[in-house]
Amino acid sequence: MKQNIEFYKHNVNSEDLKKVKQTVEGFFLTTGKTVSGFEKALANYLGVKYSIGLTSATHGLEMALSYYNIGPDDEVITTPLSYTATTDAIEYVGAKPIFVDVEKTTGNINADLITSKINSKTRAIIPVHLYGQMANMKKIKKIAQKYNLKIIEDAAQCLEGKINGKGPGQLSDIAVFSFYATKAITCGEGGAIATNDKKIYDWFKKARCHGLNQEVSTRYNNYSLKYDKLFLGFKANMSNLQAAFLINQLKRVEKNLKIKEKICQKYTRAFAKIKNIKTLNSLPEIKHARHLYTILIPQNKRSEILIQLRKNSIATQINYKPIHLLSYYKNKYGYKLGDFPIAEKIGASTITLPLYSKLTDQEINYIIQKIKFILKKY
Ligand SMILES: *Cc1c(COP(=O)(O)O)cnc(C)c1O
Repeated sequence: MKQNIEFYKHNVNSEDLKKVKQTVEGFFLTTGKTVSGFEKALANYLGVKYSIGLTSATHGLEMALSYYNIGPDDEVITTPLSYTATTDAIEYVGAKPIFVDVEKTTGNINADLITSKINSKTRAIIPVHLYGQMANMKKIKKIAQKYNLKIIEDAAQCLEGKINGKGPGQLSDIAVFSFYATKAITCGEGGAIATNDKKIYDWFKKARCHGLNQEVSTRYNNYSLKYDKLFLGFKANMSNLQAAFLINQLKRVEKNLKIKEKICQKYTRAFAKIKNIKTLNSLPEIKHARHLYTILIPQNKRSEILIQLRKNSIATQINYKPIHLLSYYKNKYGYKLGDFPIAEKIGASTITLPLYSKLTDQEINYIIQKIKFILKKY
């Protein structure tokens, strides 16, 4: 029986819609009490002191770099195997992205290769917790301390993840999250940062809205002659509407993670015996956020296999074509094939399968059956 399997389905439900309706009826749509309520809940969930709601993770990363005055003539170390937003943030502030190849086993930045890329211009490291598995934060932290570098975690895929019991924001200066349409909790577009540093929190609170000295809600509630602009900020403040979508999803995130975990186990068990399919490792010290489930298949057969999957109406994605080979970065910095061989190898052989809490058993079985059948031919 043919089925149509979406790549992603969000988990927004009637409870969330009720909160959105309440917010609309409360008339104050932009940054206010609903946002601060969500920020408190998020900080609490993450086990950090502060969080700030933003309009995207991309802005969060750019703002984090700006907070440290990182810009022209500075270098920032990151991974080539990520969504382009990670590196884009470095470009936005005018700094130079320096790539470090990834680990074969996890796809995360290889911490052992970082030191060789550090020089007097290096200011920060942006590790990405790829697919929901945290990077080797212990090693990265050690390096950052030794060379006096900042760590900004790209935790866009890793809201629920942990390493040795510590989650994003607990082992770095700033962790950045995304609530984009396909993320663990979503309001279509949205983001946040988490930090334990009050100074960072205070700066972000102002920086997200033009660098004004007061929040919108303060200005609204008591018209103030003290209204002032302190620095050139951004326009990236999360709205009450966005927060209304998110606040109850956050309460369900662990429940949904358990469902995603089970799906991953089914996939992994089913593919273990197929010689054409390899999967990345989930390390024992990891609580995996199970954002994306990827398989590695023969590189020279991938496009044919993707066509077969499409014919069977199974939506898939490629996460990721390495960033250094995307035209903009390739042309600007003169990268070529072979520069980061492991990221390239993963990038050329990976496919991402559907993974979300609304995936039914029937759909999971259909995906497994079709993949087994297609892969057997190659
Ligand atoms: C989704 C994602 C981003 C971008 O998030 P936005 O909220 O869309 O800006 C950045 N980095 C990674 C690793 C992502 O997966």
